[in-house]
Amino acid sequence: MGEFLADHTTLQLGGPADQFLTHTDPTTWPDLARAAQGDDKTSFVLGGGSNTLAADTGFPGTVIRMATRGITARPLGRDHVEVVAHAGETLGSLVALTVAEGLSGIEYLGGIPGTVGAAPVHNTGAYGQQISDTLTGITAHDWHLATPSSYTPPTAASATAAASSSPGPDGGPSSPSPCGSPAAASPRP
Ligand SMILES: Cc1cc2nc3c(=O)[nH]c(=O)nc-3n(C[C@H](O)[C@H](O)[C@H](O)COP(=O)(O)OP(=O)(O)OC[C@H]3O[C@@H](n4cnc5c(N)ncnc54)[C@H](O)[C@@H]3O)c2cc1C
Repeated sequence: MGEFLADHTTLQLGGPADQFLTHTDPTTWPDLARAAQGDDKTSFVLGGGSNTLAADTGFPGTVIRMATRGITARPLGRDHVEVVAHAGETLGSLVALTVAEGLSGIEYLGGIPGTVGAAPVHNTGAYGQQISDTLTGITAHDWHLATPSSYTPPTAASATAAASSSPGPDGGPSSPSPCGSPAAASPRP
């Protein structure tokens, strides 16, 4: 019997997945995606499970839990810092790092459970701040493509081009997969 989703969701509900894979290394995404889709069954990407309700009957396909880690920050001109985080990082870790660095822009998201990768999916937000306010780019993997693609929100500032071409935090390809979230935060006044 497969891994119980109850062990991976905040509500602690959910039966077994047919197949449960944990994604830790961005460079292995194509292999993982192939393994997940090989049987033509449905697949589901799971982050922290804080916004997921899984059925008691389980999931008839492959669940891939995002566990890629790494956060880097680098100055982007005088007024902004580009922060790149892998999808499996917790949003709390990302916020904690930016606050510790004296950066503003996502500090109100600190108490929200979940992963960095899920934040752009939901446009996670609180107290008037939402991730789209500071998101400058996403590197995402298509299920069927070997190489990741970069996406830029239409509202992103001119800093975006630099953000989407920056290397991944582990020195590998630019691939917080399937969702990573470069965010430009500003030094606090
Ligand atoms: C107590 C509590 C308080 C909360 N407060 C807030 C709040 O103030 N504001 C707010 O916006 N939300 C809030 N939420 C909701 C939740 O925290 C957010 O929606 C969060 O972004 C979900 O992240 P997760 O990693 O747990 O997502 P999951 O539940 O694991 O996944 C949610 C969805 O995102 C998709 N997904 C996850 N990771 C990826 C990825 N890497 N790539 C592609 N798709 C992915 C999944 O397939 C699924 O469809 C709260 C939840 C709880 C339980």
